[in-house]
Amino acid sequence: MGNETMLAIVKDTPGPGLVMTEVPVPSAGPGQVKIRILKTAICGTDLHIYNWDAWSQRTIRTPQIVGHEFVGEIAELGSGVTGYKVGEIVSGEGHIVCNTCRNCMAGRRHLCRNTVGVGVNRDGCFAEYLVIPAVNIVRVAEGIPLEVASFFDALGNAVHTALKFDLTGEDVLITGAGPIGIMAAIVCRHCGAKKIAITNRGEFRRNLAADCVPGIWAVNPQETTIPELMKKMNMTEGFDIGLEMSGNAGAFTDMVENMNTGGRVALLGIPGGETLINWNKVVFGMLTIQGIYGREMFETWYKMMSMLQTGLDVGKVITHRFEAKDYAKGFEAMQSGNCGKVVLSWAE
Ligand code: NAD
Ligand code: ZN
Repeated sequence: MGNETMLAIVKDTPGPGLVMTEVPVPSAGPGQVKIRILKTAICGTDLHIYNWDAWSQRTIRTPQIVGHEFVGEIAELGSGVTGYKVGEIVSGEGHIVCNTCRNCMAGRRHLCRNTVGVGVNRDGCFAEYLVIPAVNIVRVAEGIPLEVASFFDALGNAVHTALKFDLTGEDVLITGAGPIGIMAAIVCRHCGAKKIAITNRGEFRRNLAADCVPGIWAVNPQETTIPELMKKMNMTEGFDIGLEMSGNAGAFTDMVENMNTGGRVALLGIPGGETLINWNKVVFGMLTIQGIYGREMFETWYKMMSMLQTGLDVGKVITHRFEAKDYAKGFEAMQSGNCGKVVLSWAE
């Protein structure tokens, strides 16, 4: 013990790219669990880190193992960990909370003000082994495919955002058909939304959304304005629910303009720069705008798994599968935008 090494995908020096290299195998300290990684998925955040954009330069300290979307099996329980067995299949919450701030103390861990991100502020899961606090792991329910469990983190973002407001029987506008936008659309259909529209510039993802959600209106916002879209959909009053999942400021501005009075907007996309909002529309339209960060611990996880066990199917969102050693191909697919989820296999 102590001298063992494992393969990991690492940001070894400040700058673009990642390398696969040998690093020491971490061991499970008190209250921690060591997980043998089976599958991981690439998130947009990993792509930011890969590209070494301004946010990454401010945030990432090298050398660091990246990645936060994973499924694996328990390899070792640290001292004091009870309720789990070696060999159990688990995923886990990528936000490690402080357990001492006001919100944590009140059980609102998703509102922790001291959140540490796995693969962002500390070593991540693109490796043969990951060690995280036992309170962060989640047992994967029977019957859920490993490759779907590998992106519970991202599916959780979609579920958290989509379920923020009651959308049964409501008309929903989703801006951005990235993997999370498409999964949110699948959740909307599962939960009985009325009309669902999704906007995306690239055709590949519009087609993927249409393939995943029968009856969805998938349009290019550069060709069809939202009022034109509403006409096509036979809508006269505006959208009841908006899910912003593009991170594009203009998409959010347009969404606000086209909400029905009393409309509710959940905002997951992270807009770059400044966003101009028509505050008169918010005030006179009595709009609710709710920011969404991460997943509720662990209500989102519970609902996500319940829905997967009762017919929610996100399998089609997976468009690329690679061995971990071919991670560069995975990042290439992410870079192109012509992809849904990209899954990397570490072990069977
Ligand atoms: P993604 O970048 O893969 O997808 C965003 C999509 O929006 C892309 O397909 C892009 O072409 C499209 N888009 C760009 N401009 C648009 C416009 N004007 N109108 C419509 N679509 C447009 O991202 P993702 O992984 O699916 O995540 C969605 C968003 O959520 C991103 O902004 C991401 O940063 C953010 N995010 C937030 C959290 C959180 O906790 N708040 C967590 C994960 C992701
Ligand atoms: Zn806290």
